Amino acid sequence: MKVGDQYVGCRSCVNEQTVRDALDACFASWPQQYWAAFRCPQCKGVNHLEVRDGLLVEGYLDGFPGPSLVVKRRLQLDDFHVRAHELGIEIRSLNLRWKIPAKSAGTSLP
Ligand SMILES: [Zn+2]
Repeated sequence: MKVGDQYVGCRSCVNEQTVRDALDACFASWPQQYWAAFRCPQCKGVNHLEVRDGLLVEGYLDGFPGPSLVVKRRLQLDDFHVRAHELGIEIRSLNLRWKIPAKSAGTSLP
């Protein structure tokens, strides 16, 4: 499946957006965990994703006992390449590319 025809939901409203739109709306990442946060275009609620090569996980963060991502949905994606480094997460898919800046160290999770 491709980023343009897979959907992820919003926790706060019923809006579903394509993976592509969700990645466009990403504003922060945690490269060590391969997590990214995006704002729902509909209600501006914050949602979390885990991104790996060929895989995107929709979930939400649970802060106890340590931060972890509770999985709601797993999407297999073709041609989906993820690279994490200190400054953020870079994703390439088809002819698209996203750079999601890392949330600076020491900042608590949103
Ligand atoms: Zn929403």
